[in-house]
Amino acid sequence: MSVDTINISKARNYINGQFVDHANNNMDVMSPIDGVMIAKMEMADAALLDKAVQAAKAAFPEWSSRTVKERVQVLYKFRDLLEKNMDELSKLVQKENGKTYGEAKAEVMKGMELTEFACSIPQLLNDEVLEVSQGVECRTTHVPMGVVASITPFNFPFMVPLWTMPNAIALGNCMILKPSELVPLSVQRIAELLKEAGLPDGVFNVVNGTKDIVEAICDHPEISAVSFVGSTRVAKIVYKRACGNLKRCVALGGAKNHLIVLPDAHVGMASTNIAASMAGCAGQRCMAASAMVAVGKTDHIIEALCEEARKIVAGKNLGSVISAEAKVRIEKYITEAEAQGAKVLVDGRKTVVEGAEGGYYVGPTVIDNVTPDMAIAKEEVFGPVLAIMRVNSVDEAIAIENSSDYGNASSVFTQDGGVARYVMERVSAGMTGVNVGVPVPREPFSFGGWNDSKFGVGDITGKSSINFWTRLKKTTTKWNPEAWTNWMS
Ligand code: NAD
Repeated sequence: MSVDTINISKARNYINGQFVDHANNNMDVMSPIDGVMIAKMEMADAALLDKAVQAAKAAFPEWSSRTVKERVQVLYKFRDLLEKNMDELSKLVQKENGKTYGEAKAEVMKGMELTEFACSIPQLLNDEVLEVSQGVECRTTHVPMGVVASITPFNFPFMVPLWTMPNAIALGNCMILKPSELVPLSVQRIAELLKEAGLPDGVFNVVNGTKDIVEAICDHPEISAVSFVGSTRVAKIVYKRACGNLKRCVALGGAKNHLIVLPDAHVGMASTNIAASMAGCAGQRCMAASAMVAVGKTDHIIEALCEEARKIVAGKNLGSVISAEAKVRIEKYITEAEAQGAKVLVDGRKTVVEGAEGGYYVGPTVIDNVTPDMAIAKEEVFGPVLAIMRVNSVDEAIAIENSSDYGNASSVFTQDGGVARYVMERVSAGMTGVNVGVPVPREPFSFGGWNDSKFGVGDITGKSSINFWTRLKKTTTKWNPEAWTNWMS
């Protein structure tokens, strides 16, 4: 099946198990691969959001009354449907987001892993019971929050919705999901496959839109928890607005990830890992290597890294960036840094892919002699661009990393365990790595950064998410009539 045969011409709102027509407000969905319009997205408004909330509210009593073991049976089937439809789903992700087929497939596979984690929640819940005095028992129960919402970004149209949905519904909640308006199609298939897997109507709903619908979600009095993944600018807005309305919120933001590279690093391992991290998904990953801090004599590693970067070719093993605006923004960062004295070693500007001239491509770019005060060193570029800063000591490198407002990921490349540990203990990032370009914690470990990369308590996936999607009920029980009262009564 070629990408061209994937055809979802409308992204509709999905409420109570049905796609609803709401055609008064449409937005074009473009494929960044070639700049061609692929679908119309029907936007929701506050009234339609309320219908979705009422459907979720109506579904909640029956869904939440099932045991967690019963609820995950639907997710086992959903996971198998992802496997069965892997090729079609991968092509859909590729078409709407622009990443390569291999990257899109990895995203769907990660979606399966996330669903498998949700299927394991019955084994993890571990509610506690203790006889606290004779005949008196205390127990805790994880109780779902009710109607919850998830707002997602463009860069992982399939995976990020599955960061939240499987765990939230396994734990008994009913969800309203708002995908990025740039990539609303994958979520259409998620809704269909959940229905095919047997999910009751109303447990999962989709509303499309932009700022207005996100604000309506934050304001809706019957939504009790909001999770957000996107840029730091919007994460702050959503976190403040949802918390201001007394909702539970976790909001993940942008990133500027630093890789600290020492002269003793394994050259092959460092160069391949760093190149893959900077250019994978066209650099549009919140875990992408964006700044490299080279400590001392590291020319041999930088040369090998440039060799690796040159093997990454747009339209072959490098996908597009999301939009024409993104291409302009990324190239502007490179040109400004060059004008300020940085040296462009590998230049991805003005990249055009033959046969896809309307697509938005930036080739892999490696820039040396960047200084910490340049915008390219401090801001999130979100493209396949690596800014290299040179320092003389590990402590200088750590100081640069620590000065960042963000704190998603940081890695060190060295063969010295003591140095690796020294760096890992001092970087100010939630997800750290040793000789790993993309230090993503895989299930059952949870995902979440620090500083301006995440607002709220706990992480968004893994074990940590169980506390986000539930509240604890504490029950004290007394059965023996002779235990009238004691000093605690
Ligand atoms: P974005 O912040 O522009 O959009 C995210 C969501 O917010 C979308 O659904 C969008 O419709 C909505 N939105 C946009 N503007 C809004 C506004 N003013 N008010 C309310 N809602 C608004 O992010 P994006 O460009 O789609 O995604 C890229 C960003 O996401 C990058 O910064 C990247 O680092 C970040 N990201 C972070 C993580 C993480 O785990 N920390 C993961 C993936 C992506």
